[in-house]
Amino acid sequence: RPPFDVNAVRRDFPILQERLSGKSSGKQLVWFDNAATTHKPQAVIDRLAYFYAHENSNIHRAAHELAARATDAYEGARDKVKRFIGASSSDEIIFVRGATEAINLVAKTWGAQNVGEGDEIIVSNLEHHANIVPWQQLAAAKGAKLRVIPVDDTGQILLDEYRKLLNDKTRIVAVTQVSNALGTVTPIKDIVALAHSVGAKALVDGAQSVSHMRVNVQQLDADFFVFSGHKIFGPTGIGVVYGKRDILENMPPWQGGGNMIADVTFERTIYQPPPNRFEAGTGNIADAVGLGAALDYVDRIGIENIGSYEHDLLAYATQGLLTIPGIRLIGTAAEKASVASFVLKGFTTQEVGEALNREGIAVRTGHHCAQPILRRFGVEQTVRPSLAFYNTCEEVDRMVQVVYRLATARR
Ligand code: PMP
Repeated sequence: RPPFDVNAVRRDFPILQERLSGKSSGKQLVWFDNAATTHKPQAVIDRLAYFYAHENSNIHRAAHELAARATDAYEGARDKVKRFIGASSSDEIIFVRGATEAINLVAKTWGAQNVGEGDEIIVSNLEHHANIVPWQQLAAAKGAKLRVIPVDDTGQILLDEYRKLLNDKTRIVAVTQVSNALGTVTPIKDIVALAHSVGAKALVDGAQSVSHMRVNVQQLDADFFVFSGHKIFGPTGIGVVYGKRDILENMPPWQGGGNMIADVTFERTIYQPPPNRFEAGTGNIADAVGLGAALDYVDRIGIENIGSYEHDLLAYATQGLLTIPGIRLIGTAAEKASVASFVLKGFTTQEVGEALNREGIAVRTGHHCAQPILRRFGVEQTVRPSLAFYNTCEEVDRMVQVVYRLATARR
């Protein structure tokens, strides 16, 4: 029995009642593209509307009542993020646009200050392009070297190979907690500890983990932890950099402007302490507040409940997919979350995606912004169903049936 009422949960998400038009005419939406983005519960939609109807103002800068309301809502959201990921202080939470901007912020501030010629940066073969390109750019600018932890044939990180890459030139290790392309859950705590053993910092990409498992940044001992609001039932355009306070305090700012300064003359500027130092200009106030509402919603269901329900659902989906002739699952690590990537012999991923779309079932097909890991498995693209806690076994059955029929129909 599920640890919560899935049907009640589904009623919280208006878009899940949506009937489709076009090629999937009349079919009810099945959303299996949760790794790309998640849907929003009514509580989040209502919170955004409430902000604009009753609280809208710029923050921090005025004596009037609405400024106080908006500031309280925004800083309240920061506190919710702090609690949700187990940070020790709200000052360790920086609001940005998403995981991509978060990693770029760290590379362009901490990285610019701490990575020099001959230094080494380590990423894994599993990374999303957002956790590759900024480090590659930094390495090129500084004359540093990017090194890559390989994975085994299941798509799991090879810790022994990682150990061999670490040395006194390693400055930072940037690795994902869950792979967006394969679903692999990496041994992130060990990865962080090993980075620290050579004096390097560790950045954890939590874009695909926070919505599926309990994250505690202090237990992980992560120096930086990043995620996107839109992948955890919150709005687009809002994301988070967590950084340990002493590290953030010593980091130079990235963008300059209002809000991030304590005092400005034409001769010099004194910056605010974190987090404001890293939040130049008017931020995405409403969507930060919306993210806070999303985290409250997840707390009400319980992230452990979500994780255990999704674990069973993924096992069920994997079992079903494996009955299909000609299917090859890409990514078979013992520990996985949400994602079941596959290719189907004799069909392009596009053809599989279109067959599913005709039945109202949304999956991502393509390279998932993670080309290196797909190439590691000899493919350029996969079909990638990715599950959330509002999905059901019936939806999985529909998906398996469509792919099964496609695989066994005479061409
Ligand atoms: N890292 C991972 C593991 C991701 O899955 C994603 C989004 N697909 C990102 C980073 C980038 O997130 P965003 O596009 O929201 O900035």
